[in-house]
Amino acid sequence: MSDVRELYQTVILDHNKRPRNRRKPDGANRMAQGYNPLCGDRVTVYLRMAGDVVEDAGFEGSGCAISTASASMMTDLLKGRTRAEAEALFERFHDLVTGPPVGELPADPALGKLAVFSGVREFPARVKCATLVWHAMRSALHAEDEAIVSTE
Ligand code: ZN
Repeated sequence: MSDVRELYQTVILDHNKRPRNRRKPDGANRMAQGYNPLCGDRVTVYLRMAGDVVEDAGFEGSGCAISTASASMMTDLLKGRTRAEAEALFERFHDLVTGPPVGELPADPALGKLAVFSGVREFPARVKCATLVWHAMRSALHAEDEAIVSTE
């Protein structure tokens, strides 16, 4: 338990300090925004889809350490995944942060380091912080009619 908590702190603080993929990818053709009024987190998720595959993923916005770390790790995990795989990861992550107490669920190798977010279960008010960017990602996957026009 304390190991999980320690890892949770370490990984989340690291990703909050040095977020990966905090940018709009070149050629991004999907985007969606998310806002968590409970905490004030705002995030925009960008995807560059090539057919059915997420070629690149990034995010912009401002939020707490949990939302930033979640966005950082999610965008890393998404690259190279198909739409179906991204949807499946959404479900797995959602189960992870809303599931039974830590220790009662076997680790999910598909989520890799995101497993540390199981620590969020101990802080129900923070679940939305962790899942915000995932909801935005899923909207972006479906936002074919709202594909952004690159001005670059
Ligand atoms: Zn938050």
